[in-house]
Amino acid sequence: MSTFRSGIHFLQIPGPTNVPERVLRAIDRATIDHRGPGFAALTLEIQSLLRPVFATRGPVVIYPSSGTGAWEAALVNTLSPGDRVLMAETGQFATLWSALAKRLGLEVEIVAGDWRHGADPEAIEAALGADPQHAIKAVAIVHNETSTGVTSRVGDVRAAIDRSGHPALFFVDTISSLASIDYRHDDWGVDVTVGGSQKGLMLPPGLAFNAVSDKALAASKQARLPRAYWAWDEILASNRDGYFPYTPATNLLYGLREALHMLHEETLPEVFARHARLAEAARRAVRGWGLEILAADPREYSNTLTAVVTPEGVDADRVRALILEHFDLSLGTGLGKVKGRVFRIGHLGSFNDLMLAGTLCGVQMGLDLAEIAHGDGVGAALAYLAAPTATPVLAAV
Ligand SMILES: *Cc1c(COP(=O)(O)O)cnc(C)c1O
Repeated sequence: MSTFRSGIHFLQIPGPTNVPERVLRAIDRATIDHRGPGFAALTLEIQSLLRPVFATRGPVVIYPSSGTGAWEAALVNTLSPGDRVLMAETGQFATLWSALAKRLGLEVEIVAGDWRHGADPEAIEAALGADPQHAIKAVAIVHNETSTGVTSRVGDVRAAIDRSGHPALFFVDTISSLASIDYRHDDWGVDVTVGGSQKGLMLPPGLAFNAVSDKALAASKQARLPRAYWAWDEILASNRDGYFPYTPATNLLYGLREALHMLHEETLPEVFARHARLAEAARRAVRGWGLEILAADPREYSNTLTAVVTPEGVDADRVRALILEHFDLSLGTGLGKVKGRVFRIGHLGSFNDLMLAGTLCGVQMGLDLAEIAHGDGVGAALAYLAAPTATPVLAAV
């Protein structure tokens, strides 16, 4: 049998996401001299379009790297060997970030979690309260835990840090929430926000970001972890005139400029409302099937992905494989502790009602193929999407 597959592939993993035609066309151009006179305008335009996406007035450092690089950059620019970092164990991505911190020679204190809830503000407040000597230098959380479909309440964590009166820096990973779920770097007093290109920003993989506060910049002057490639100072100095100290990913920057124009044309509040509405429809489908959503607290439901728990004894990866084989639809696998127990539906980025409808149909037919008893989740989702009263609801923050 031919391996050719006609029509579009449904890439509904929670990142990388579908890259829109406009972005693909923007990237498909000759590479220019990154030290030439034309380049600076590109960088400066991107800077001004990018800041509102992080809701910051401060600088945003752009790396030619995966998101993991920006995790490392946040730590090496601000901390010293042996510094203590408080990290909330929300799932696989939080676990990987803490493992990276340990490899860098930091002392990691974990706030344990059950992989069904977000970072617990009270537990963070208690841990900081138990540190009167201020040995903890930073608190790090993942805004949207992509392995579980749980969104942490960043504003509540900020308030908890403030209540404790503790001076720790505050780092937030927004790789799978940025440009999809409301996020406010300045208002929430975040010191380093970590971002990536391949999720809500609708780009291919290859760019990563650090939005940096004044407090983080001040810390970087004292920090003693070795850093070179990731060092903010040279990048920020070159960026002021629109340049980079080393070759940036020029063609991805063309794509970034286009993606940012698209986000601002739609407007960020409408981008957030679209994600909230499609996520609600996806959750109605899961309930309609009679399956369980991994996220336990409705205040923390993710608007960018939904992790679906398969019935006891059913391997979630077998369901995913059937769906890919029969319908050319890629769903996210279970990661780490929840491998085989969940599959993840990505509903973020360049995405609309009919793309969601097609995705949910693929899942429902996959449940049939896997002989999993289920209700009409698709019907529940479509009824919600088609209802004139389905006014978009902004995500809780
Ligand atoms: C995707 C993701 C990462 C990892 O980014 P890479 O580009 O694979 O290095 C980190 N954190 C979160 C929350 C993610 O969703």
